[in-house]
Amino acid sequence: MSYQLDDLQRLGIGMTSQRTRERLIQRLRDDGITDEQVLEVMRSTPRHLFVDEALAHRAYEDTALPIGSNQTISQPHIVAYMTQLLLADGPLDKVLEVGTGCGYQTAVLAQLVGRVFSVERIQSLQERAQERLAELNVRNVLYRWCDGWEGWKALAPYQGIIVTAGAKKVPQALLEQLAIGGRLVIPVGEDDQQKLLLIIREKNRYVHHTLNDVRFVPLLAGTLA
Ligand code: SAH
Repeated sequence: MSYQLDDLQRLGIGMTSQRTRERLIQRLRDDGITDEQVLEVMRSTPRHLFVDEALAHRAYEDTALPIGSNQTISQPHIVAYMTQLLLADGPLDKVLEVGTGCGYQTAVLAQLVGRVFSVERIQSLQERAQERLAELNVRNVLYRWCDGWEGWKALAPYQGIIVTAGAKKVPQALLEQLAIGGRLVIPVGEDDQQKLLLIIREKNRYVHHTLNDVRFVPLLAGTLA
């Protein structure tokens, strides 16, 4: 049997990734991630398939990486933390994700909730994400190319909404599309002083919790092909 260079490279990544993946999971634990389901899903989700091949060897470092179109795949810790926050009150059926990007957060979510509705303003990024997730057999995701400032009204309300780009203010449409009892996790603020917010919709009001400082690419208006 003969191997192509390609196969050997894939195999190489496969072999180191088991060890390096374990190291990443341990690091997430050390940094306060306690949700075992989230940790398990992140252990088994191949993050190296979501970045450019040239960066695949860095995929299990706890760092954001470029994914093209001036965007980044979020740092694993922030993916774990936001997912843990979203799920902290129990399982969710419908979740809206704003900012599909490379689809990594989408893949993690899809394994933990009933259905994910994922919107992205850059069409080419979303198409690639969609192909990847189909190859990985992730089926419970619907995609829409649109401006996430508007949410996805036709399929609202959502028990969870997660925004993976930093907004100057909380988009009104997202507040409106949140179910009663639903949870919205969103980075808000000017570029260099964003805070992660958890907003819970109660019957007659929205309860805001301000969490840690974060740094995300901006939530921009409009769409791009
Ligand atoms: N969760 C993604 C994060 C990508 S970065 C990942 O880990 O890959 C943030 C993403 O939000 C980018 O892809 C960017 O294009 C997208 N984005 C920014 N503004 C948006 C908007 N108004 N509506 C939808 N997506 C938006």
